Amino acid sequence: MSKQCDKTWVVVEHRGVVIEPGSVQLLSKAKTISPVPVVAVVLTTAADRDKLVAQLRPFGADQIMVVTDDSLNEKMTQETAAATLTQMMVQLGRPIALLFSATTWGRSVAPRVQGNVDAGLTADCVDLRFDNQTLIGIKPSYGDRIMCEITSDSVLPQMVTVRPNVFQAVQEGEPTPEDAIEQLAVTVKPDNQVVLNQRQENPLTNADNSLAATDIILALGRGANDPVTIQLAEKVAQKMGAKIGVTRPLVGDHFTQEQQIGQSGTTVAPKLIINLGISGAAQYTTGMSGAGTIVAVNVDPDAPIKEIADYYYPGEAQAFLQALDEAIN
Ligand SMILES: Cc1cc2nc3c(=O)[nH]c(=O)nc-3n(C[C@H](O)[C@H](O)[C@H](O)COP(=O)(O)OP(=O)(O)OC[C@H]3O[C@@H](n4cnc5c(N)ncnc54)[C@H](O)[C@@H]3O)c2cc1C
Repeated sequence: MSKQCDKTWVVVEHRGVVIEPGSVQLLSKAKTISPVPVVAVVLTTAADRDKLVAQLRPFGADQIMVVTDDSLNEKMTQETAAATLTQMMVQLGRPIALLFSATTWGRSVAPRVQGNVDAGLTADCVDLRFDNQTLIGIKPSYGDRIMCEITSDSVLPQMVTVRPNVFQAVQEGEPTPEDAIEQLAVTVKPDNQVVLNQRQENPLTNADNSLAATDIILALGRGANDPVTIQLAEKVAQKMGAKIGVTRPLVGDHFTQEQQIGQSGTTVAPKLIINLGISGAAQYTTGMSGAGTIVAVNVDPDAPIKEIADYYYPGEAQAFLQALDEAIN
């Protein structure tokens, strides 16, 4: 992992939509001392994303990077957070400095990241400054009798944890511009492995997701999650000028989080949506119930999605797609 990015990252800790005060204090301090742009990094769920971004913007970070996945909620394990930050560094490059508030959470996550990237970490600082691009962590030592200045700039990022309430949180100057808010998505696998999916568009400008803007969606669920059905669906979608959407269980290797429809994914309102092998969980239907015409195909003659479907075909997803493919020829 050797890529580098000339930024200072401040990891924003939060519980749901409540931001831990030390994080914004640290953000304000970083703004005044960092020789490179300051990025607020937030790991959260899609549902909490906008509220957190709205609270952070007045602190004027040069950029806000929001990383979403449903496992990144208040129950997020320290391993998941550390693995996510590590993956971000692999793909985006190592920042010059990586700052955490020295809360219980920050004190647990920072050393894990440090272990992953083999960098130096100065814990429990009470002040910070930069000398050019060298970060100096200032902390009491020898039974708090003297203040030490510690640097660790041989391997990036230069990591510190800083005690909460040693800096002021300041909302001065320009808020973070909308086009400086970047969204990334991760998939956290059951073994805690984190896959950073492709970059997504700015969530605030809503310039994103062609899925949200499309007229026809073929939506695939677990009952259509086999290579042959997926390939057929992609062929039929192309013929119909449709886009593929998926339920949450299908996000991963083949489909991105951007394609997920639902509470923690994209809300869509196409003219026509054809649901294949989807049971109709509330977290899914909430994201597509505004569709003009809802078709559902399910081997279960009474799957819950039947309740909102205009047309219901009790049968195999693959057989339905095959017939559709032939009908369109
Ligand atoms: C906080 C939270 C947020 C969530 N957010 C979302 C979200 O945004 N989007 C989302 O989708 N989910 C979300 N979920 C997950 C959601 O609760 C469901 O687990 C998920 O939607 C189920 O996906 P599914 O319908 O593909 O799978 P299943 O519920 O397993 O349904 C598969 C269906 O396929 C049918 N089937 C099986 N074989 C075939 C076949 N050969 N042909 C046709 N039909 C077949 C079965 O009868 C079944 O009805 C969330 C959950 C939580 C807890």
